[in-house]
Amino acid sequence: MVKKCIICHEEAVYKIKDTLNYYCDECAKDNFSDLDLLITVEEEAQQLRQILKEKLEELEKDVNKVSKKCLQQPD
Ligand SMILES: [Zn+2]
Repeated sequence: MVKKCIICHEEAVYKIKDTLNYYCDECAKDNFSDLDLLITVEEEAQQLRQILKEKLEELEKDVNKVSKKCLQQPD
């Protein structure tokens, strides 16, 4: 899903941290002298991928634990 700039509705490149405010390159530069306040949409996507990856790994460990337990239980 492509994020749109909240001002001109062009494709967004930047986002304010911890908000849902997206900006295209031009509007970001017009509105923010300090682009450190912003993260790029690409950075955000990478962070999300990283979080997702960690969650999946945790889940996998849990599944392994549970299936080991199941195997060990005598019936
Ligand atoms: Zn814009």
